[in-house]
Amino acid sequence: MNTRARSGLVVASNRLPVVVVRHPDGRCELVPGSGGLITALVPVLRDRGGVWVGWPGTCGELSSLESELAAAGERAGYRLEPVSLTVDEERKFYQGFSNEIIWPLFHDLQSHCNFDPEYWEVYQRVNHRYAEALARHCREDDFLWVHDYHLTSVATELRRLGRSAHLAFFLHIPFPPLDIFLKLPWRFQLLRALLDYDLVGFQTPRDLRNFLGCVRHLMPEVRVQGRRGQIQTLQLDQREVRAGSFPISIDFNAFMKRAAASEVGEKVVELKAMLPNRELIVGIDRLDYTKGIPQRLRAFGHALERYPELHERVTLIQVVVPSREEIPRYHDLRTEIEQLVGEINGKFTRPGGWVPIHYVFRSLTGTDLLAYYRAAQIALITPLKDGMNLVAKEYCACSIEEENALILSEFAGAAAELQHGALLVNPYDIEGMAEAIHRAVQMPIDERRARMRRMRRVIRNHDIFWWVDSFLRAAIAKDLSAFPQPDDYVPQPESGWPSV
Ligand code: UDP
Repeated sequence: MNTRARSGLVVASNRLPVVVVRHPDGRCELVPGSGGLITALVPVLRDRGGVWVGWPGTCGELSSLESELAAAGERAGYRLEPVSLTVDEERKFYQGFSNEIIWPLFHDLQSHCNFDPEYWEVYQRVNHRYAEALARHCREDDFLWVHDYHLTSVATELRRLGRSAHLAFFLHIPFPPLDIFLKLPWRFQLLRALLDYDLVGFQTPRDLRNFLGCVRHLMPEVRVQGRRGQIQTLQLDQREVRAGSFPISIDFNAFMKRAAASEVGEKVVELKAMLPNRELIVGIDRLDYTKGIPQRLRAFGHALERYPELHERVTLIQVVVPSREEIPRYHDLRTEIEQLVGEINGKFTRPGGWVPIHYVFRSLTGTDLLAYYRAAQIALITPLKDGMNLVAKEYCACSIEEENALILSEFAGAAAELQHGALLVNPYDIEGMAEAIHRAVQMPIDERRARMRRMRRVIRNHDIFWWVDSFLRAAIAKDLSAFPQPDDYVPQPESGWPSV
């Protein structure tokens, strides 16, 4: 029974913000999850009284987890309400529709999609189950905030169950342009489902533009109010829907503080002693074909070929965090990456001890992650497409001396905000990326500082707390002119990198 006195926040995401650890004796333990979204939402959930609805990450009967979830919720200061999934549903809803259709399609990689009709059926069934759980645990005046591509149809299902207001959605991944979105066999249903929310949030102005382009083309009866600004209104028959761009961010101050801790400093010294007199370049990515890791390795190899002065001067530390390895495409990607690392190291390693690529395939501890951020003079972050890319923002937050350079893909959502400080590259352009690596290594310290300061200022001003606040305000604001147009990125013809 719901005992909260005033309107609360109810969050739904595919996974609950906890990790279930099963011990060999069969006992289950719930460990709190981490990450920017959790950090940002927890204070609001605690303050307003809240509920988080999601899958706990383990299939089948949930009764054994009930008391653990209640205790974990008690510790966290808000309630955790689980949604159960069978093994078959997990396969077709999560791995299938979410990760074999929407994930590749929305990252512009339609050739990676498996448009199995059964996936859509199961996706809707599971979205209905989330809606039922939400309806059970929220009151009419609660604000419902649904997260990400796994749950696009939850508002439709909730409206069928009689809910009519305070429904908001945020898409953490990109929204594709019309010609790519049109490939989706369920394009009308998915677009209509998004319009069942009252507020739909995207990462960047480009994603918002793509969404509005699809609405204009596929649903000409919907009137898009033509104001330029962070938030646009769409006029439907009976209702108004708001759509806006809200670039997600990080807890800037917490990263900066943690990066300055003595145990991180000790690790940095250790790393630098292991790789002495080197300019360290770091890449940190989940194993995913959207991250552009093979293209980046080829570009690094090309830079070594073209600029021999980089030999024995730079080392690329490429960290790959294991992910979705049960899917053959991910397994093949790992093989491709490891072959490329082998080829480049085989070709350029020198008897004096220089090995050009230092390859790490594992999940890092917090201290190790921060130490890599701090030890590397350059970050090389070149996804083929990415909703935001938090690693780019975390790297800047940890650049306490402000002497580091960021090479960033123009197809990362972060490029819109960081374009005036980063060296932006096209991740498909091997020569362009090699040139950027060379440029970053040669970059005078004053220029690095000026660029890094600009990026840090943007991230500090627009941190994760700003993100939550601006999204929640956009849902209720009467006057939308208080939401200015956020930074957009448009590639410049052959003008090179802006100088400082
Ligand atoms: N990260 C992590 N473990 C690691 C390395 C990185 O949890 O071993 C974190 C990193 O700090 C960042 C997130 O994973 O917050 C990656 O977010 P990003 O937006 O860059 O990419 P995603 O993996 O969400 O596509």
